[in-house]
Amino acid sequence: MPSIPDEIGSGSRARVLRFLLEHLGHVVSSDEIRQAAKSSEWARRLRELRDEFGYKILTHKDRRELKPGQYILETDVRLPALPRSMSKETRAFVLERNGYTCQMCGLAAGDPDPFRPGATVRLTMGHIIDKSKGGTDRPENLRAVCTNCNEGLQNSSPPKADRIELLKQVRRATIEDQLHLLTWLETKYAKVRPPEKK
Ligand SMILES: [Zn+2]
Repeated sequence: MPSIPDEIGSGSRARVLRFLLEHLGHVVSSDEIRQAAKSSEWARRLRELRDEFGYKILTHKDRRELKPGQYILETDVRLPALPRSMSKETRAFVLERNGYTCQMCGLAAGDPDPFRPGATVRLTMGHIIDKSKGGTDRPENLRAVCTNCNEGLQNSSPPKADRIELLKQVRRATIEDQLHLLTWLETKYAKVRPPEKK
């Protein structure tokens, strides 16, 4: 296996990279990466490896045969690190214009993160036309998206069997626990639910 460069460090970022290098040329899932990372910050670590350290980690945006939540590292050869072409001012402008709200799922910065219990939603810059297809870093090609949508997570619905299992568990729970769950879900989704019909 190729070695882990010193600048990667020895924390969750190194664990993600080690996992990817062990599976060089093979499709891996976000679940597997999360487990290898032993951290809820796995998606951020993945982005750092790609954007700051130049590892060519491909996603469904790069490869048609990959589904959202699937990744592949095909080579340990790294691209030269590119300077950030997006200015702080551009990011601030786009965030403000989009009302600090994810333009894909509607969650706002600071809302409870549906994919990372206990954490809050973080917004990042999403490209409307992907950079690999010639999109620019200019404000008109940018929009605020949460890190989950950016990684394609919001679009991946769980397999049906899991949902049935989950519902079975909920139905078996005590009324008190079910009401607790209801309150929790209502609070969590208050902002993204469509308004009630009158
Ligand atoms: Zn989102």
